Amino acid sequence: MDKKKILVIGSLNMDWVLKVEDIPVIGETVLGGDIQESPGGKGANQAFAAGRLNGDVTMLGAVGCDENGRTLLENLKLAGVHTEFIKKSRKKTGLAIITVNADGDNCITVSPGANLSCDVSYIKENLQVIEECSILLVQMEIPHDAVYYAMEQAHRMGKTVIFNPAPAPVQIREEAYAWIDYITPNETELQKLTKIRDTEQEEIERGCAILLEKGIKNVVVTLGSKGALLMNKTVRRNFAAKKVQVVDTTAAGDTFNAAMAVFLADGKNISQAVEFANAAAALTVQKKGAQNAVPHWKDLEENHK
Ligand code: ADP
Repeated sequence: MDKKKILVIGSLNMDWVLKVEDIPVIGETVLGGDIQESPGGKGANQAFAAGRLNGDVTMLGAVGCDENGRTLLENLKLAGVHTEFIKKSRKKTGLAIITVNADGDNCITVSPGANLSCDVSYIKENLQVIEECSILLVQMEIPHDAVYYAMEQAHRMGKTVIFNPAPAPVQIREEAYAWIDYITPNETELQKLTKIRDTEQEEIERGCAILLEKGIKNVVVTLGSKGALLMNKTVRRNFAAKKVQVVDTTAAGDTFNAAMAVFLADGKNISQAVEFANAAAALTVQKKGAQNAVPHWKDLEENHK
């Protein structure tokens, strides 16, 4: 049976991780270690993860005509992602500078660069790519007009829309609720979107109810070490996280979203997809890094019996 096609629309960034003793304050200069460079951006991370997990994945987004852009595309290709529609912008490839202090706390500065070229007109030029997919997976690191336009078109074409509201906007446009089949915030994103008081279970459930009331069909909240919560009109179910030794939680949420999309594309139901996503993300947190921490399908098969 042909796998259903997944389309990821989103950001591609080169991540530069720079270790320092103390993060500089205004006016201060500090010396850091060597820059560690790795492919990132929520869009690219999710496309890469879905590819590694054996999904049939195409990505829409934009990179610059530079070395970072080439590296990002090559890396996606290694995971089997179709990259031919990714735009080559005149702007520089997006760059995230992540400064990490001796305690492991960080501060991040992002230059979106080419990601800003992933705009409505580019999506319009590529409507046939949306037409050819079954599942659309989008996040919020590209111009928001493009995100909404893509979700609206995909919904009108009868596609399944998964919306990962990260970074969370202050609110979702009223008309967009009806286009979303699955929304996948983490706890803080849910709090921002629904103004719940805290992230205790009761408030999380109230936040989900608010989104369901607005017309979103399913809410899947990722709860870090507590796993995930699925709520729709008929189901309210907690999925405990796997008990694992955590090394680095970077890209846990991205792996979760990708795995959910892959399992839905395989025709599984949402409960099965969330269970699988929990298992995939639990493997990612046991390894250092972003895309290189994402499991291959065979690792997951061995772990998720
Ligand atoms: P984000 O990375 O977007 O903030 P979360 O922190 O909620 O998202 O993590 C996403 C998913 O990763 C969780 O739903 C869970 O499946 C997995 N995960 C995160 N932290 C842990 C952990 N400490 N142990 C096991 N699984 C984890």
